[in-house]
Amino acid sequence: MSLTDKQLFAHASRLRDKVVLITGAASGIGKAIALEAAKNGAHLVIGDIDESALQTSCKEIKAIGGSVIGQRCDVTSWDDQVSLFQLAMRTYGKIHIVIPNAGISERARFNNLDTEDLGSGPQPMKPDLKPLEINLISVIYSARLAVFYLRSNPDPGKTIVFIGSIASLMSLPPGCMYVTSKHGVLGLAKNLANEVHLFGIRVATICPWFADTAIVYPAARRLLGNLPMAQVRHIVGSVIHSATDPDPSTHGAVYAIPDDLGAFRIEGDELDLLSTGMYNILK
Ligand code: NAD
Repeated sequence: MSLTDKQLFAHASRLRDKVVLITGAASGIGKAIALEAAKNGAHLVIGDIDESALQTSCKEIKAIGGSVIGQRCDVTSWDDQVSLFQLAMRTYGKIHIVIPNAGISERARFNNLDTEDLGSGPQPMKPDLKPLEINLISVIYSARLAVFYLRSNPDPGKTIVFIGSIASLMSLPPGCMYVTSKHGVLGLAKNLANEVHLFGIRVATICPWFADTAIVYPAARRLLGNLPMAQVRHIVGSVIHSATDPDPSTHGAVYAIPDDLGAFRIEGDELDLLSTGMYNILK
């Protein structure tokens, strides 16, 4: 990504004093985005199921002079999420940007084709639904709460930034439920975008390719290890759609996609800055 200093300054000033709520910010991409936003003057409200790692994130954000409050939050619990949003409202009085980022990976195949005995008829299906619960249903909870609280905020720049994946755009076998969940996130984002722009809420989805975090399983990490870092940076892609931008024809449209998994093209304002958080973990 090539941002001029002038552009970076413009993006940074857009984040100043914005209240940014991020789930899954105890590690990886969520933590990187939180640190980047804090560096640029945002107030952070962060939640994660891993309380001790979350406290470490809070300490690191405070160590760079950032403003942050953290609370344990299992995103699969509606009550935990309500409590995190309420903490943000009690502490800062409003919320500008919500990033439902918490997620898990999964490598299971949909069917075990090798062992299924066709003669005895279909066996009861027991897919692991955890990726759907954490990566999709919980994101729906976050989106519901985001719309509720962002609507009441009269400020400009209200945004929901979904964390999709390259698995939102293509198959990535094995990992059928992961791919299903991430396609679902992109579908949710696209549809929601059409409804909430009426309230001045913008919706974007960042779709990373591999970033070397805890979620990445050993085979993928080996693949990452074989790639030159410059290339790894380039294959972090992103999709933005439906912004409350001056051109209404872009509402609901995907207008920035990874180009041959090559060029990182992300159009517009503070989202550029948030996505640089992902770059920092690749450095
Ligand atoms: P990570 O494992 O470093 O971070 C995920 C965080 O989510 C962890 O801190 C974990 O404790 C938290 N979490 C897990 N279950 C939770 C729950 N029930 N409630 C609250 N928090 C919970 O992985 P990451 O790579 O930083 O993943 C962040 C997001 O990025 C995920 O949505 C993931 O699908 C997406 N993503 C990652 C990659 C990649 O290559 N790393 C690629 C595409 C998309």
